[in-house]
Amino acid sequence: MESGVDGETEMLKAIFLPFVSPSHLIPVVDIARIFAMHGVDVTIITTPANAAVFQSSIDRDSNRGHSIRTHVVKFPQIAGLPEGMESINAATPKDMSTKISEGVSMLQGEFRQLFRDMQPDFIVTDMFYPWSVDAAAELGIPRIIYVGGTYMAHCAMDSLERFAPHTNVDSDDHSFLLPGLPHKLEMTRSQIPDRFKVPNHGFAKIMKVVKESEKRSYGSVFKSFYELEGAYEEHYKTVMGTKSWNVGPVSSWVNQDASDKAERGHSKEEQEGKGKEQGWFTWLNSKKQDSVVYVCFGSMNNFPASQLIEIAHGLEDSGHDFVWVVKKIDESQDDGVGVFLEEFEKRVQGSNRGYVIWGWAPQLAILEHPAIGGVVTHCGMNTVLESVDAALPMVTWPLFAEQFFNEKLLVDVLGIGVPVGSKKWRNWNEFGDEIVKREDIAKAIDLLMGGGEENVERRRNVKALSDAAKKAIQPGGSSYNSLKDLIEELKSLKLQKLSCKLETVA
Ligand code: UDP
Repeated sequence: MESGVDGETEMLKAIFLPFVSPSHLIPVVDIARIFAMHGVDVTIITTPANAAVFQSSIDRDSNRGHSIRTHVVKFPQIAGLPEGMESINAATPKDMSTKISEGVSMLQGEFRQLFRDMQPDFIVTDMFYPWSVDAAAELGIPRIIYVGGTYMAHCAMDSLERFAPHTNVDSDDHSFLLPGLPHKLEMTRSQIPDRFKVPNHGFAKIMKVVKESEKRSYGSVFKSFYELEGAYEEHYKTVMGTKSWNVGPVSSWVNQDASDKAERGHSKEEQEGKGKEQGWFTWLNSKKQDSVVYVCFGSMNNFPASQLIEIAHGLEDSGHDFVWVVKKIDESQDDGVGVFLEEFEKRVQGSNRGYVIWGWAPQLAILEHPAIGGVVTHCGMNTVLESVDAALPMVTWPLFAEQFFNEKLLVDVLGIGVPVGSKKWRNWNEFGDEIVKREDIAKAIDLLMGGGEENVERRRNVKALSDAAKKAIQPGGSSYNSLKDLIEELKSLKLQKLSCKLETVA
């Protein structure tokens, strides 16, 4: 695989500009590394605190002989924003997210200048940089957009925009069909994002600009793979009219050794002590194959104290062993839950029933441990893909963004998910008013981890997808071919541009 699909001709030069939140940064860096692994010269532009999250993987790639580097630009000083706070994630105070976005907007001029100075053959930029489509046009190069999420979610959101089926139901709890999709999928109004329901919603305006820039881009790149949601990939290409390439699962394609897996998504300095890391490993080693459920809600989510308490009880009541990743509790939100969780941790350690990881977990490394037999997830697409890759069925607990659509894909289309029964979409940085009860959590985990025909069927389905995921990134596989096609296309564009230049000179 190392020899790459790029072959012997002149090297393509690319700039990648990821957004400043782990949710987007992690997969875009993986995609950049995949390009470098296949012979493209890659520069990732970002700010110091964001670079710290992935720099060690870039250093390793560079030592492996890949032509890849990070170009770090200083984050602007913004009144009231602490130095080093440059990433929008679960730990970002609500009032700071806007300031971080403000800082990022201020960097636009510098980013454009870097594009001009570095003269790439193409750029891959996040959806939240819609201006970059014009920057690419000025340089006469293609802009590839990273839009995040699944094809399925994009198709579902397009169906909502086109047909507005949610306006034809009487209440938020009545289900409606999403028209025009490859499968008959039903949702309720309470499960869809606010921007589809609230007139003149601020995020709807942002997404309108994003979509326009998507349509004007050369194409889009996805982190999924054809065998997972091929019908939606086809639908997206037809309906959106945009070219698109599916190059995943990206996490396993580039994070092949233990350091890549253990350090992904987090700076070395911020990682909990090595002893702790070894702790989960030793603990899992003492467990039977497929007997432990891994519980994690991604990089953006916070729960209120009351929900954390329900999860703790739900895990204990489920009767199954677990690893639970708990974000550090903000003091202002504590409500005594910090003490409750410390006691909980002591109790479950004492009974050898569970292992709590505080803050950030080395998720890729944990998921591949043979003792892990299932995942409880908020349906963030990175975790979904990583779980599928590791052949793990999921309890689906969607919260925000496009996660309720992803739940449909897992439960109704692919048959690899057990819904916990969450019913209300909320903003990523709000708690909302829905608390999923301990008995529903325990029941869903038991359905996932227990015996029964449905469980056997789910495991069979996810194993088949996992096998397909592994084939997709091998020579001749769907994602491998997709990447190869994209690189070939970009090369021929470069050659066309060069020959036009030569003709002009002649
Ligand atoms: N992740 C991790 N450790 C954690 C939490 C998250 O490694 O403790 C990684 C996870 O492997 C995934 C990403 O962070 O790649 C989270 O992405 P996802 O789409 O699942 O959720 P989001 O953060 O976008 O809500």
